[in-house]
Amino acid sequence: MPAIAEIEAVATNHLAEQQEELLALEAIYPDRFNYRYHIDRNIGTAHVFVVAEDGEWWNIVTRNADRKGKEPELGEATGEMVLQVRHMPPVRIDFTLPPGYPYSTPPTVRLECEWIDDDALRATEALLRDAWAKERDMILFSWLDMLADIRSFAQLTDPLIVSNEIAWSIRSFDQMVREADFARTLYPCPVCMEEVRGSDCLRLACGHAFCAGCLTGYFSLMIQEGRLASLQCPSIECQPEPHKPDEPELRYLLGDALADRYAQLQTQRSLEADPTIVWCPRPTCQGPAHCDATVGDPNRRNGAMLAVCNQCYYSFCTGCNRGWHGPVSKCRLPDDAGIQVDLADEYASGYQEERRKLEQQYGRHTIRKLVRAQLGDDAISDADDGCDDDDPRKPRKTATDNAVQENETAASSARPRRIGRIAARRETRKWIHENTKRCPQCRSQIQKWHGCNRMQCFVCKGHFCWLCLKLLPITDPYSHYRSQGESKCAGLLFLGVDET
Ligand SMILES: [Zn+2]
Ligand SMILES: [Zn+2]
Ligand SMILES: [Zn+2]
Ligand SMILES: [Zn+2]
Ligand SMILES: [Zn+2]
Ligand SMILES: [Zn+2]
Repeated sequence: MPAIAEIEAVATNHLAEQQEELLALEAIYPDRFNYRYHIDRNIGTAHVFVVAEDGEWWNIVTRNADRKGKEPELGEATGEMVLQVRHMPPVRIDFTLPPGYPYSTPPTVRLECEWIDDDALRATEALLRDAWAKERDMILFSWLDMLADIRSFAQLTDPLIVSNEIAWSIRSFDQMVREADFARTLYPCPVCMEEVRGSDCLRLACGHAFCAGCLTGYFSLMIQEGRLASLQCPSIECQPEPHKPDEPELRYLLGDALADRYAQLQTQRSLEADPTIVWCPRPTCQGPAHCDATVGDPNRRNGAMLAVCNQCYYSFCTGCNRGWHGPVSKCRLPDDAGIQVDLADEYASGYQEERRKLEQQYGRHTIRKLVRAQLGDDAISDADDGCDDDDPRKPRKTATDNAVQENETAASSARPRRIGRIAARRETRKWIHENTKRCPQCRSQIQKWHGCNRMQCFVCKGHFCWLCLKLLPITDPYSHYRSQGESKCAGLLFLGVDET
């Protein structure tokens, strides 16, 4: 039996070696390793980070209660959460080093990890003990190494199957580590070409990082110029479809006022491009209204189509822009005397197809009564003579052709005169057609004398574009000419002004 002094010497000796090992590990893992001396032994804890190798991932799938026993395939559409991460939450190891460690007594070990089940953890602990039994020497460093590769030591499945709660925890940990890495790293900003620390950058969801200042300036400019299509990740490496910043990104970079303006512009654009959207005829509203049938739709009965304003809920007929009168009732004639004359003229000089449309919309009796009242009985008989069989889609017969034909068949002497009148009327209509346009909102005939192509209707005060006859937003009618590459009238505000 050795003397007590000898035992103490042995223990002290080992304690010094333990101290050496522990200090080394503390230096390597300053924030993840700690230990203390308690009664007669060292007690310590380490958190071992488990990171996928470069180019590898941890694939995580959540358990589905309905599919017990069957392991889901990664990416299978089962409504389960499927994750790919690089950084797993750490494995915690608690150990004690008794006085006989490292040479004669084994250390004790206990593992904890939320995403590995108990059986696998106990089996791994046994492997760690075996490793010491083989070496009978300082083993902590090897242990931490083994735990970093716990995927193979604990024989974990790929994908790893976990509960929903744990999947969220894994996701959040991975995100935290990546954000911390990002904040420390230097990035070249593709806008100003400076090297910027991640903590001063904003990284868009596509992964490209810029100085927050550069990105704010760039996006503000795009919105102020109405170039919504250019509001995207400015990196040329953003392929194939450059990332469009999402709402939180824009609010963060631009503040609420500009982000709201962007949202408003975007809605406006998508509505303008939507053929099922018409504009509310109430002058104080002019909001977008939804209409299922489109203009010229064969399902549309007698010109009437129901549209309901998204803003004021007014239901109106898109044929006459009045309150909805049902699909069977005809449209009422417009009140404006000038528009009534136009309409009568349109009928009197119209081709058969055009007249048929007007008859369907307003009723044959009503429209003919209007023509008589506005243009006299002659206009009706002229019209009936002049367009019995013609069709605007066929090459048009000229009035002279008709006249010659009529003379040869020796028709009544009044007819050539009538045909001459209708030809003259058509000439007038042609001139009107070329020199005036109808307000897209209230159908008033507007003549453009001078000025730019942004017109304002004198009847309904609506703004519209002379070139494409689109109704323009009251809040910003000029945006139509400004937005390069998106509106076909961009840059054409003064087109043709000198010629009129
Ligand atoms: Zn920059
Ligand atoms: Zn990008
Ligand atoms: Zn409205
Ligand atoms: Zn109507
Ligand atoms: Zn108008
Ligand atoms: Zn236009």
